[in-house]
Amino acid sequence: MSLQGKTAVITGSNSGIGLGVARELARAGADVVINSFTDRDEDHQLAADIAKEFGVTARYIKADLSKGAEARALIEQAGKCDILVNNAGIQHVSPIEDFPVEKWDAIIAIMLTSAFHTTAVALPMMRKAGWGRVVNIASAHGLTASPYKSAYVSAKHGVVGLTKVTALETAKEDITVNAICPGYVKTPLVEAQIPDTAKEYNMTEEEVIEKVILARQPSKEFATVEQIGGTAVFLCSDAAAQITGTTISVDGGWTAL
Ligand code: NAD
Repeated sequence: MSLQGKTAVITGSNSGIGLGVARELARAGADVVINSFTDRDEDHQLAADIAKEFGVTARYIKADLSKGAEARALIEQAGKCDILVNNAGIQHVSPIEDFPVEKWDAIIAIMLTSAFHTTAVALPMMRKAGWGRVVNIASAHGLTASPYKSAYVSAKHGVVGLTKVTALETAKEDITVNAICPGYVKTPLVEAQIPDTAKEYNMTEEEVIEKVILARQPSKEFATVEQIGGTAVFLCSDAAAQITGTTISVDGGWTAL
């Protein structure tokens, strides 16, 4: 399937799932905008590498998505947004009574409120183009919960709600809005939690992967960033034109349990 001529903006895409989604969309022919808050030479190089590998246009635009004005400016600076992937995310794990309010605010801002801002600016562009696709990267934690992840679980449930509302507001147009709900994918976000969990449970890091993380995934395997990217490409394809307002789990069976 070809996404040639379409421009995709992927938030939080200098790493992990966002980068994987950007690469798969570029492989399908889309021009891509890579984003993060870091603005390092490596970030611009990532875009240059994608452009070279897939023969598309690829740019890096810096925006700190904890700030609403920067989230809106990201889409405005892209100039065109046929495909919007709201992906940026962070994590903090703590019991509710000790959960730092600034961590709560940052998680809700980066993972939920930024998607509201980017969507609000992208929808008029999609309407003008007569075609659009919004793919929100939610999580198995958008459908289920875990203790100590109050902000993350709340933000991801919010992303699923925002997905449904946006789909209803665009249902009569050639615009679809869906959420992908990954289970565990081995990215820096997940890898960062392993040493603390190992200490907490007095386990080796390998035991944490087997007995804590993959214990939740009946497939006993991590999903890959390419599999999340491939699902995003499918949601942008003509075959998925009547799929809107829904969630697709890529979780090795986690949410079937
Ligand atoms: P990651 O740490 O590799 O990537 C996170 C991305 O978000 C990075 O590109 C980072 O630069 C960006 N980001 C963070 N704060 C930002 C800010 N203030 N402004 C702009 N960008 C910012 O993690 P990942 O695992 O690839 O996570 C990507 C998304 O996938 C997140 O929304 C996460 O919740 C979701 N997810 C991940 C998993 C998993 O197992 N890895 C599972 C389900 C859902």
